[in-house]
Amino acid sequence: MTVTLDWLGCATFRLTVNGFVLFLDTYMDRVSTAPAVGLTSADIAEADALLIGHSHFDHVAGADVIAKRTGAKVIGSNETARLLREAGVPDAQLLPSQGGERHRLHDDVTVRVFPSLHSCIWTRAAAPGTVLTGDYGLTQDERLAVRAGLAASGGGLGRGLPAELQRESNSLRASQLHSNSDGGKLDYLIETPEGTVFFADSMGYWTGVLSDLRADVALLAAAGRGNIDGEPIQGAVEDFIERQVSMLKPHTVVLGHHDNWIGVPDQPDITDVTPVRERLARVAPRVRMLEVGYLESTRLF
Ligand SMILES: [Zn+2]
Repeated sequence: MTVTLDWLGCATFRLTVNGFVLFLDTYMDRVSTAPAVGLTSADIAEADALLIGHSHFDHVAGADVIAKRTGAKVIGSNETARLLREAGVPDAQLLPSQGGERHRLHDDVTVRVFPSLHSCIWTRAAAPGTVLTGDYGLTQDERLAVRAGLAASGGGLGRGLPAELQRESNSLRASQLHSNSDGGKLDYLIETPEGTVFFADSMGYWTGVLSDLRADVALLAAAGRGNIDGEPIQGAVEDFIERQVSMLKPHTVVLGHHDNWIGVPDQPDITDVTPVRERLARVAPRVRMLEVGYLESTRLF
């Protein structure tokens, strides 16, 4: 039996377990200035299950297109299920989940679902290598004020997008599946006869959930300000990844969400993840960090 992995940009992966095809997130229809990943959702003719981490467009968009064409089952939050239902995906394909479920998708594939957390999008974020501190212990009102302050100073998501690109981005988003709510982020542990694959599509977790989990392979988002038990990490991206790896103890790590998915014209395609690579080499030298390009099919097991 072979298990292969393709990265499709942002936090989207295709996992193929002996011919059974799972998409982990489904976002691949991007603005023209974001590097093309080589496939659009309309190209996908084969999919058996879609696992959606949360309901923001850069994760859930495309799930409706793929689900309708292929008949794939979709696992996601109630908010994700609502979006798909409203887009015309039959209820029989939807497996709304909160965390705590274990779905059998195939003789060889079961999926455990865990409650999780989105990254702290209300405060500052930085690429790997930059330590961020502060913004600790704030109420929701205070967090909204931080977010408003960032937006007013032009420091929010999509900062500095040229007007024409912002228009393109807005009109693309208007045509895509999207919720302003993350819907309650879910993490997944995909169980196969050859090994397990953990998937997280945003930088957040509950320690109480992750500390008892183990995975052979971990697909980990590496973008934004990490969220640990509801508070922003006092540290950098590599500190967050190190903590996840110390709990999950995978032999292989693949990062996601670190490419230029938003299409900022003057940004490199791939964020430099050297600080993460160097950290893991130091604290977890037996862990293999795979760095794959789009659609570079990689055998996991
Ligand atoms: Zn998100």
